Amino acid sequence: MEQPIMRPIQMVDTKSQYHKIKQEVDEAVLRVMDSSAFINGKDVQEFADNLSSFLGVKHTIPCANGTDALQIAMMALGLQPGDEVITPSFTFIATTEVIALLQLKPVFVEVDKQTYCMDPLQLEKAITPRTKAIVPVHLYGQVAPMEQIMAIARRHNLFVIEDNAQAIGAEYTFSDGTVKKAGSIGHVAATSFYPSKNLGAFGDGGAIFTNDDDLAVKLRSVANHGQSRRYYHDIVGCNSRLDSIQAAILNIKLRNLTDYNQARKAVADRYDNSFAGIPGVITPYRAPWSTHVFHQYTMVLDGPSRDALQQHLAAANIPSMIYYPVPGHRQKMFEHFDVAATELPVTDWLTERVISLPVHTEMDGEQLDYITSHVLKFLNN
Ligand SMILES: *Cc1c(COP(=O)(O)O)cnc(C)c1O
Repeated sequence: MEQPIMRPIQMVDTKSQYHKIKQEVDEAVLRVMDSSAFINGKDVQEFADNLSSFLGVKHTIPCANGTDALQIAMMALGLQPGDEVITPSFTFIATTEVIALLQLKPVFVEVDKQTYCMDPLQLEKAITPRTKAIVPVHLYGQVAPMEQIMAIARRHNLFVIEDNAQAIGAEYTFSDGTVKKAGSIGHVAATSFYPSKNLGAFGDGGAIFTNDDDLAVKLRSVANHGQSRRYYHDIVGCNSRLDSIQAAILNIKLRNLTDYNQARKAVADRYDNSFAGIPGVITPYRAPWSTHVFHQYTMVLDGPSRDALQQHLAAANIPSMIYYPVPGHRQKMFEHFDVAATELPVTDWLTERVISLPVHTEMDGEQLDYITSHVLKFLNN
């Protein structure tokens, strides 16, 4: 008897996800096209309002992508050339690139071996009189230890800019029991709607969040050519917009975000259970202070070769990724900051050992069984 053919496994499956909401999305896109309000249409404001209430944040400023969101945040805070900004080296390049782009100085700080996020103890040691801001990254979908980071920032009078491109919808619980969503905790936060993100558009998009009314005015102005009123430009800004078609699609996807994040977590739970107790595999740590929205399922192979596992999986048509193969302090881009001598042993240790398995909202049991059996086959050899 012929076996039914398993759907090909992908790192993300935006196509199957689209097909489940196709009618709604198609209608929304056609409606925007018919209105011709492509820029600053009502969908953009509607989406910003919906996202603000979802996150429990006062202001959402939509923009063109997550990299712009970080840049606009740093510009609106008035950071000046030479100011030091502390950030992990173990992150996507966008976080650190915008720091250098604005002539600020990136100061790379160590991450924690378990959480993969900024280590608060190391953060405090990296502060100098020139430090102006801290950029924690909620890497792979789990919130960095924000209570400690905010306390350090308060003590030293520093701004905190959350890079929330990977953890939209994740919740952080403070020691007094208060629960806040990632992106609503720092002075300002940035996120991305790149198609593969947990809340992904059908193109590029991003947003900036803040609870500070004055900062919100500055953020809007920076994103709009430094304009205060039409054709009056007070500061040098940039041009960064979310278009109405993307906003209309994001509005629909936002309604499904909690389900999407739940589906990702179910995949991660399956992986965790399958790999529990297998020597040499460290499954992702679940921090007691944060929910995890599993933008990535990233485990550490300590002992068995990560590269050999990747080859083994590729031979079985299972994709996997290394996020990220080169940490910031080893990028050529930052050579002139003399960062090569920076000692970040945990970052280097993780960089050599992490591997991310497919995780998305459309994975089925058959695909998961296939992946876990191949991982286990490799590890048991
Ligand atoms: C995706 C991402 C960004 C940048 O978002 P873009 O929309 O691609 O510009 C920034 N930081 C992190 C951690 C990301 O994962």
